[in-house]
Amino acid sequence: MGILEVQNVNKRFGGLQALNNVNLNVQKGTVHAIIGPNGAGKSTLLNCFVGRLTPDTGSVMFDGQSLLGLTPHQINQTGVSRVFQTPEIFTDLSVLENVMIPAFAKRDGSFRLNPFGKVQSEAEIRDHAEETLRDMGLADKRNMLASEMSRGDKRRLEMAMCLVQDPKLLLLDEPTAGMARADTNRTIDLLKHIGETRGITKVVIEHDMHVVFSLADTITVMAQGAVIVEDKPENIKGHPKVREAYLGE
Ligand code: ADP
Ligand code: MG
Repeated sequence: MGILEVQNVNKRFGGLQALNNVNLNVQKGTVHAIIGPNGAGKSTLLNCFVGRLTPDTGSVMFDGQSLLGLTPHQINQTGVSRVFQTPEIFTDLSVLENVMIPAFAKRDGSFRLNPFGKVQSEAEIRDHAEETLRDMGLADKRNMLASEMSRGDKRRLEMAMCLVQDPKLLLLDEPTAGMARADTNRTIDLLKHIGETRGITKVVIEHDMHVVFSLADTITVMAQGAVIVEDKPENIKGHPKVREAYLGE
């Protein structure tokens, strides 16, 4: 049993079959990459996991619970956190404040769900936010305005905003998009580090093959809305179906 189990998911936009009978099984504690040419349906699939889109048919089970019909907020409360393709941060607030906000949201949401749960104090939330900033290499920028950060730092801030919620599953849509090579490598190292220290399951959509092969335990290849291959990285390189999908782009 996977922590995330997706069965026979279909999604149509007018005449376009954006997802065609997609099956995906993500094992707990692993990094599962989804690759494929532009328009393959990768972001659409992720949107079905977080409640931004509802599949026409099929099921999405997370940790034994169906996510279908839940709001994005409710899904977040089950332990799913997502880094978007374009950063969504509070530009007028400091870096530390940006990380504290989702921690408060998580606390207050959980408090509503479980009145007997332990309620974190503001000081505890601040400590956890600072620790998370350290994990993402942003400790020295904690008092900066978020709008003044570099593009790469903004992406890492967004990851910190997800991580501070202690998700069980972290979804990353092209986390290194637009980054220079050095910045990309730094982000890979940080993601590996949090993988080891926090043991969070990750689903990563990525164009950059260097990132995919550095991080992934399993790779699912999509093309034209369908899964064409799922295998370990060493078997994906040079796979004829994968080459065909990319050459046909
Ligand atoms: P990927 O992330 O793999 O590049 P997407 O999931 O963004 O691909 O898109 C898959 C296909 O669905 C594309 O052809 C895209 O144009 C289309 N699509 C995505 N979102 C919508 C939408 N909200 N309405 C209509 N078409 C969409
Ligand atoms: Mg996309």
